[in-house]
Amino acid sequence: MRLSDLKTGEKAYIIKVKGHGGFRKRIIEMGFIKGQEIEALLCAPLQDPVTYRVMGYEVSLRRQEAEQIEVGDEPWMQGEDSEPVTSRSTPRDQQHKTTGVKEITIALVGNPNCGKTSMFNFASGAHEHVGNYSGVTVDAKEGYTHFGGYRIRLVDLPGTYSLSAYSPEELYVRKQLVDDTPDVVVNVIDASNIERNLYLTTQLMDMHLRVVCALNMFDELELRGDKLDVDKLSSLLGMPMVPTSFKTGRGLEQLLSEVIHIFESREGHDEYYRHFHIKHDHEIEDGINNIQKYLKGNALLRMRYSTRWLAIKLMEMDTEVDAIVRGLPDYGQIIEARDTAVRRIKEETGEDSETAIMDAKYGFIRGALHEAGYVVGVKEDTYKTTHKLDALITNRWVGFPIFFFILYLMFEVTFTLGQYPMDWIEMGVERLGELIGDTMSEGPLKAMLIDGVIGGVGSVIVFLPQILILYTFISFMEDSGYMARAAFIMDKLMHGMGLHGKSFIPLIMGFGCNVPAVMATRTIESRRSRLITMLVLPMMSCSARLPIYIMISGAFFAIQYQSLVMFSLYLTGILLSVVMARILSKWVIRGEDTPFVMELPPYRFPTARAIFRHTWEKGKQYLKKMGGVILVASIIVWALGYFGTMGVAPSLEQSFIGLLGKAIEPVFYAQGFNWQLDVSLLAGVGAKEIVASTIGVLYADAGFNFSPLTAYSFLIFVLIYFPCIATIVAIKNESGSWKWAFFAAIYTTALAWVVSALVYQIGSLLY
Ligand code: GDP
Ligand code: MG
Repeated sequence: MRLSDLKTGEKAYIIKVKGHGGFRKRIIEMGFIKGQEIEALLCAPLQDPVTYRVMGYEVSLRRQEAEQIEVGDEPWMQGEDSEPVTSRSTPRDQQHKTTGVKEITIALVGNPNCGKTSMFNFASGAHEHVGNYSGVTVDAKEGYTHFGGYRIRLVDLPGTYSLSAYSPEELYVRKQLVDDTPDVVVNVIDASNIERNLYLTTQLMDMHLRVVCALNMFDELELRGDKLDVDKLSSLLGMPMVPTSFKTGRGLEQLLSEVIHIFESREGHDEYYRHFHIKHDHEIEDGINNIQKYLKGNALLRMRYSTRWLAIKLMEMDTEVDAIVRGLPDYGQIIEARDTAVRRIKEETGEDSETAIMDAKYGFIRGALHEAGYVVGVKEDTYKTTHKLDALITNRWVGFPIFFFILYLMFEVTFTLGQYPMDWIEMGVERLGELIGDTMSEGPLKAMLIDGVIGGVGSVIVFLPQILILYTFISFMEDSGYMARAAFIMDKLMHGMGLHGKSFIPLIMGFGCNVPAVMATRTIESRRSRLITMLVLPMMSCSARLPIYIMISGAFFAIQYQSLVMFSLYLTGILLSVVMARILSKWVIRGEDTPFVMELPPYRFPTARAIFRHTWEKGKQYLKKMGGVILVASIIVWALGYFGTMGVAPSLEQSFIGLLGKAIEPVFYAQGFNWQLDVSLLAGVGAKEIVASTIGVLYADAGFNFSPLTAYSFLIFVLIYFPCIATIVAIKNESGSWKWAFFAAIYTTALAWVVSALVYQIGSLLY
């Protein structure tokens, strides 16, 4: 419950004060301390402000301020430490109702590949709340743990190198830090790469947040024999730092104790929690002060943001921050002050303000590291293996063969190894059908269970093993660092398509599922490349299309041609994506190219646990889809086929679905599809698996009645047309407009129609 929810005359106890550092400090100094009783005394006529009694004196707060204070019915201070919190699904909306639970929200912030997700997994254990689709964290992921009498809510954020507003991820993280104000930020740092990682830390310092640093990968630092006085560095930056290794879980407990310690301590009162500014040169400092003067006059702004941070961002020409201050009455003066500062910096240093500030930050980092006695060790070159491997993997001659071999291996293993469990599941599904067939009495219910539920869901669930295997490979490639190399060696080719090396990761992920792949495009800085990547992604044949391929090619082509058919489909998809990307970049989405900047993190052997987790998360998603969309769609398709205009239809042709299929049959004359195929295509708009389950239902006892050529052009159509609703929605979310989502839906379907018609017509001429 928030303090603002308290009605006149009601009493409550303060749980915590949220909001930004400066505001927090002031309000705590005013006596708003955890466990204090507070009473709402009276309300101003317009409901704002409200007068409260706390610590025996009266104080009035604005509603916005009162919203930042969390209160509960009981003072939690009295020994509730041991109370276990059993509910796993207690997101923040419920948090306010559960009074008396001490909860700390910590946000994990850090560069990509520094070990945030590893820490998250270690800390949250089985208490994970929302799984994101893939190893590349593109969304906030929440989990819980209990420590020191607190319930700790962890939020795993996407990796970023800085908090400028260059990529959507950076903006996202920044928004999370500003709007959701975590109680404590854990800045995970790759200690084997400390200088660059600290850059982000300096930006967190500007934002005036409570930060605890995890010096992760400390094992590698020790292995290399680096020297670093951690305590010294920690005191220089004004934040606790804990050496950790989330490969083994080392340092986690100490880290969490530091989090609690800093959460409980008061700024300025505690030796422990001090806030440092990075002192810039006088021309920058003057600029900051001049701008700050205006910003400080606005109480609301001060409450939400660090004015120093706003000032620095304004000098960096940050458009988002510009938008924040635009509404202020003295916006004109602020901008004037900024322009003066920028001009002076230019005159005195010869640099633009953004570069000057960046230089100052790196200067600060170098100085701090120097004082902390930082020396890079030479005991063991931790990059040795990486360098050796890279020499091979990114080699001009063998790089591509290795890459294609890995891709080939991935699909080969997926299909051959996946065959065994697939057979078992298939057998199980069959048995289940027989069992129900033998035991239940005839009627619509039995028909629905056997033909609808088991026939529909069963024909898709058998692919779960293959999907899991595919995702195991993808997780391994991501976690080990190979995916970055793949992007690296593919950059040139990608560039030719108007894409970026980084586009490659989403494209590969698209083979698994287009939805997380579309989300993974966020790592691409250039909006143009990002859009094009998103739009051609549906050409990557996702695993949902696999059941259809296997089913149809299995029925129409001799065993020795089946892989060829499969391969040709994947290849067609890839070629079309190249063609479409070129067309789009040339005529539709024009703009300049961005330079290729991509880190190649050292190779690290991922832990089995991490791989297992990442794979399982995706598997879960698939199962959920089974139980939801696909189950419902199967039943609908079955019902439409079972009933007709006059009750139970005597034959499929006279059922609703038959009538529907017949109605649209002319649309697909050019492809030679019959009405059953048309219906399954319609049904597949929800999710492509449904095409297979629909065919499963429609041909349950009739058998296939079309030619291999039709079969092939059908497969081509399935490959290209409308991806699925979930993908379209993802494109809408990521591109920010329905325009591109509609564009994707329409162009893919039109392209599918043309290509499959060509295949059928040319094929008919030849045979
Ligand atoms: P994120 O991108 O920040 O979420 O990073 P991840 O948690 O995915 O970790 C990237 C890679 O580093 C994975 O392969 C981890 O197994 C590995 N890793 C994480 N922490 C450590 C550590 O402390 N030491 C070592 N040697 N490897 C680590
Ligand atoms: Mg991660």
